[in-house]
Amino acid sequence: MNSAVQKALNDQIREELYSSYLYLSMAAFFAFRGLRGFSSWMKEQASEEVKHAMRFFDFVSTHGGNVILDALAMPPSDFESPQKAFEAALEHEKFITGRIHDLHKLAGKENDVATQSMLQWFIDEQVEEEEQVQKVLDQFKTLPNGELDALLGKRGGNS
Ligand code: MG
Repeated sequence: MNSAVQKALNDQIREELYSSYLYLSMAAFFAFRGLRGFSSWMKEQASEEVKHAMRFFDFVSTHGGNVILDALAMPPSDFESPQKAFEAALEHEKFITGRIHDLHKLAGKENDVATQSMLQWFIDEQVEEEEQVQKVLDQFKTLPNGELDALLGKRGGNS
């Protein structure tokens, strides 16, 4: 595996794990305020991010690359309000989308077709991730926090 691509994929493993850490911090923020539905939605999001990290991990380690894990930054712990937390989540997902697109460009530049093909799944996934968070942000416009909390508590495992 090309060293520039390997480095970028390792960086992305850290970004996905940081995403998980950030959403877990949001889940804790909600739980402390008695918002169990918001908290459970964010815990589910956090576990999805670990799966993303593992997808990159498995790709690197089965394509002749070396996984090197970096330090994770401390996530924020105060998000001001549920809506502000979801706004921060959307901003974060947009940042991740940009990184995935940059990775795809780098793989193209390095003629790494296998990595580009693997990244297509993430390109599609990011469209869904942003839509999912935007959907909750739209619901803040019509529902009070308590009702939205109850609704989000019903989130299924694959939504
Ligand atoms: Mg992700």
